[in-house]
Amino acid sequence: MSANDTQNAWDQFLKYVKGHCSAAAFGNWLAPIKVLESTAEEITLEVPNVFVKEYLLSNYKKELKLFFPVTTTGEPQIEFVVVAPEKKSAAIPTPTVDHHPVQQNAQSHEVKLNENYRFETFIEGPTNMFVKSAAIGVATRPGQSYNLLFIHGGVGLGKTHILHSIGHYVKDHHKKLRVQCITTEAFINDLVDSLRNKSVDKMKRFYRSDVDVLLVDDIQFLQNRLNFEEEFCHTFETLINQKKQIVITSDKPPSQLKLSERLIARMEWGLVAHVGMPDLETRVAILQHKAQQKGLEIPNNVAFFIAEHIYNNVRQLEGAVNRLCAHCKLLDLNITEELVEKTLREMMQQAPNKKISVEQILKSVATVFQVRVNDLKGSTRTKDIALPRQVAMYLAYKMINESLQMLGASFGKTHSTILHACKTIEKKVATNEILRRQIGMVERNIAA
Ligand code: ADP
Ligand code: MG
Repeated sequence: MSANDTQNAWDQFLKYVKGHCSAAAFGNWLAPIKVLESTAEEITLEVPNVFVKEYLLSNYKKELKLFFPVTTTGEPQIEFVVVAPEKKSAAIPTPTVDHHPVQQNAQSHEVKLNENYRFETFIEGPTNMFVKSAAIGVATRPGQSYNLLFIHGGVGLGKTHILHSIGHYVKDHHKKLRVQCITTEAFINDLVDSLRNKSVDKMKRFYRSDVDVLLVDDIQFLQNRLNFEEEFCHTFETLINQKKQIVITSDKPPSQLKLSERLIARMEWGLVAHVGMPDLETRVAILQHKAQQKGLEIPNNVAFFIAEHIYNNVRQLEGAVNRLCAHCKLLDLNITEELVEKTLREMMQQAPNKKISVEQILKSVATVFQVRVNDLKGSTRTKDIALPRQVAMYLAYKMINESLQMLGASFGKTHSTILHACKTIEKKVATNEILRRQIGMVERNIAA
């Protein structure tokens, strides 16, 4: 290709895209791109911001490869230059290679607080007491007690409930403070949207000076969205410097999030609080509370029966109450264990109360892989021992509801060894059918 050809290729590409996308999309995303240089081998494009580059690569990579030469790794041979920094506003993220598609449907950033998610309706027990009191501390003295507050825990354990409770409390008790609750996904969409509408400055001004309490739900969705991290980081730093309160929820602790060190450090400076699965008594209390809200009386023995069978997600407990409620009202039945069993069969998990131990897993792994338990506990690194040992760690993480640290301690290893084992085994089972079957045997063995 000559330099002229490359320029022609770009013109043709634009013509092609124009025929395949809306006029608005073309105007917003393609029209601002300029050809800076075209040589025989490569074309250099000037883009107003890194999102335009993202948009182009995530939506038209296949076509770009048809119109332009490709590199040895199969990428279109295009160099991108983001316009001079002074033309950019301060915190527009720096260019990095990130080909995640940018969602185009803008959402309004604010999340309406759920009316039912209040401190009064959050039932407390040993596994969530700490989170609740930290949240109350923050809500009573925003920006003064812990900044920031980072809440993490598994799905359906009440993180969003706590987050919204803080929002309600502040709104009710500190009427002058401005509360903004957002999901990470909506914030990203909003940012993309305001970039398109050239209103980024307005959006930044809003987040950095018109908010006193920022509640951010599900920060894990920021992972692998490198270009947006910086914007988050700037917003957080600006707010914290002004003593504004930030609360973040996540399904993992900061150290396990795939985010920049700077952002992780920022989150770890605050108070990190874990919310765990409520114990049996708390589950019964939650169940009774939810039932009462629906005007349903559940006998205590039945409540215990349900709570013994549904033990790793409060949302499921709630689902059980809803289902029971519908059933009883429709058929005008009394609630009994038999009825519960019949109605909730598929929701019920096997093996209530049966707590699996690391020892059990080691024994079962040793049997299936024909090695000795003591060898698994030792530190021999030969392959025939190291692999079953990793399987045991992987299964312990999968089957036992304990933190990585605790599991690490049971194996006499660090949490990162457990994490590494999990990743290794997950990768291996994807391609190794025999290993997959062996692991299945171990699991069935333990369950039996
Ligand atoms: P997460 O955000 O952690 O996935 P949610 O906050 O959405 O979980 O909680 C799921 C459901 O369980 C919600 O309806 C919430 O009200 C309820 N829930 C969770 N924990 C509790 C609790 N301790 N007391 C009362 N309800 C709870
Ligand atoms: Mg949630």
